[in-house]
Amino acid sequence: MTPRPSRSREGPEHPYDGRVGVLATKHAKLPLIAPPLAAAVGLRVDAVAVDTDSLGTFTGDVPRRAPALDTAIAKARLGMSAAGRSLGLASEGSIGPDPAVPFVNADREIVVLVDDDNGFVVWESHTSWDIIVASTSAGADEDLSQFLSSADFPNHRLIVRPNSGALHPIYKGISSIDALATAVSECAAVATDGLARVETDMRAHACPSRRGVIAAAADRLAARIATLCPSCGAPGWGHVDVVLGVPCAWCGTEVARPRAEIAGCPACEYREDRPLIPPDTRVDPGECSYCNP
Ligand SMILES: [Zn+2]
Ligand SMILES: [Zn+2]
Repeated sequence: MTPRPSRSREGPEHPYDGRVGVLATKHAKLPLIAPPLAAAVGLRVDAVAVDTDSLGTFTGDVPRRAPALDTAIAKARLGMSAAGRSLGLASEGSIGPDPAVPFVNADREIVVLVDDDNGFVVWESHTSWDIIVASTSAGADEDLSQFLSSADFPNHRLIVRPNSGALHPIYKGISSIDALATAVSECAAVATDGLARVETDMRAHACPSRRGVIAAAADRLAARIATLCPSCGAPGWGHVDVVLGVPCAWCGTEVARPRAEIAGCPACEYREDRPLIPPDTRVDPGECSYCNP
């Protein structure tokens, strides 16, 4: 018999203790997501291999249609129906330029748990700006050493396709110089401009800089699931919203700054406000649109 993982949680049994959830993954995410859930609440997570590519891929051959959270929930449901389970998990990443930080790429990873016995979804996310994203175009036999160093190759793997015209061939998961040279010369040969497109392969098993972000999102999800609703006892109690509005020191007009955090339950309507600042806080008139238009 395998020993049960040690748990930090005290008190009564968690509703998921000893239960099984399925993780829909093709890309080796089980070691990132299963351990924190086992440790936090005693939930066992098994992988189920389903083809999630129909929901959109990082390699761009299938465009993603739904926002990341909806895609993650749809993935979890694919796994649940494949395995015949009522508890499912999945993760989904969004990688691209951060609108708030020019020239910097952000990786936001969402991990969801879908509970169809009780009819709710719990999710958490984590964002990192340390993601490695690189792309270039190259002709056959071109020296790519500078690009390969910026792409952290072969630790991070690559995708090669024709730069223009033809859509195929596409080589994914390239991790050796020989395979790269072959792919570049074959793709350049069929491209209308004679170049191959070389870019980082953002799939989780090919991209180590994503893996830590997925693990961090899974840690947050585990902590949230460990927290039970004070009203109905369902797992997943935590932050759901903020309340804006702090009065101006001169005129009292409310400025759109966070005043309180709202904690909520995924299964029932119960909510609690937690003040983020002392009740007598006033903002500087310089921030007030009435005093300082
Ligand atoms: Zn509740
Ligand atoms: Zn004012």
